[in-house]
Amino acid sequence: MRAQVLEAFNTPYKFKDVPVPPNPTGQDILVKVGAASYCHTDAVFASGAMWQDLPRIGSHEFAGTIVAMGPDVSPKLNLKVGMPVGVPGRAFHPCGSCYECRNNDGDPEKYGVWCPEAGNLGLSANGGFQEYCIADSRQIAPMPEGMTAVDTAPLMCAGLTIWNALERAGVQMEAGGGKGLTIAISGAGGGLGHLGVQFAIKLGCKVVAIEASDPALALLKDVVMDLGPLGSGVTIVDARQQPAEDVRVSIFGSPEPNLEGEKGVDGVLILPESQKAFEYGMKLVKNHGICVTVSFPKEGFHMQPRDLVFRHISMVGVLVGRNRQLRAMLNFAAKEGVRAKVTTYKLEQLNELVEDYHKGSSGKLVVDMSK
Ligand SMILES: [Zn+2]
Ligand SMILES: [Zn+2]
Repeated sequence: MRAQVLEAFNTPYKFKDVPVPPNPTGQDILVKVGAASYCHTDAVFASGAMWQDLPRIGSHEFAGTIVAMGPDVSPKLNLKVGMPVGVPGRAFHPCGSCYECRNNDGDPEKYGVWCPEAGNLGLSANGGFQEYCIADSRQIAPMPEGMTAVDTAPLMCAGLTIWNALERAGVQMEAGGGKGLTIAISGAGGGLGHLGVQFAIKLGCKVVAIEASDPALALLKDVVMDLGPLGSGVTIVDARQQPAEDVRVSIFGSPEPNLEGEKGVDGVLILPESQKAFEYGMKLVKNHGICVTVSFPKEGFHMQPRDLVFRHISMVGVLVGRNRQLRAMLNFAAKEGVRAKVTTYKLEQLNELVEDYHKGSSGKLVVDMSK
């Protein structure tokens, strides 16, 4: 079968003929890949900045059809051969006994998404840039009607992470659950951000969508246009032009000394790996608000303890989410029409996709196996 293999760091993927994975054992399933999306972490991995070994077939967000199931797949999961599914990278083969696996908040038994022993498709095990891929039956979500593999793939990491970030920011994750909340998204025109804007609006939040580049602002305007009348709930901010203090005043009214007070957003999501974006976002948050960071720049973030001490802002971090959140997110996206802006490529064109990614292409870049 055809596959794109990363054989050395900082080199292009090699397009190769590799054996089809063997029949699934235990709780595993074999998925025929329909679409596989490229995530920032794929770029970080390919640069050699992570710890997993090579050679590796990348992509930890993909979708396809179940073609075979191992003998121990739980009937409780309601999976069957022929079923279309979305596959996130995590968690592949968790240990089943650690704290995460025992305290998993309603996920399948002995299955912990953040199990430190668990693998990650596309990083520690092969991922979606191939025709067939082995996955853990407990990590996937059935694809709801009306969704295609190309619709589903980019939601498996980006969609899930931003969904969880909104939940951590205090949004009730059901239609109308964000009513009364204003959420700022820094990096709102990026892969995660433009999904976050759609989810937040459709959950009932007001959104302050922050960007600092022309292509990202253009994508953001497209997203808002697609939202129709709901788009009026989004305030687009060009951080290069508008100081955060002014944004706060223009949205919430008269200025407050030292940004202390109630005239700010309830939560901010920080998506870019940028100190400037972090500081800008923090300035928008009201007293007792929350800052959720999804990015993890190597050099770290410099934080003003003053913001936490005097303004009582909480800081949390988020990466991916539980299986129950994956399923809820995907069903919500299907029902409410949340879709990534995608550019699709043939599997053969993966290196072209990567080049476009590094040139700053906006939206999500996805390999479409049907091309
Ligand atoms: Zn990812
Ligand atoms: Zn575990």
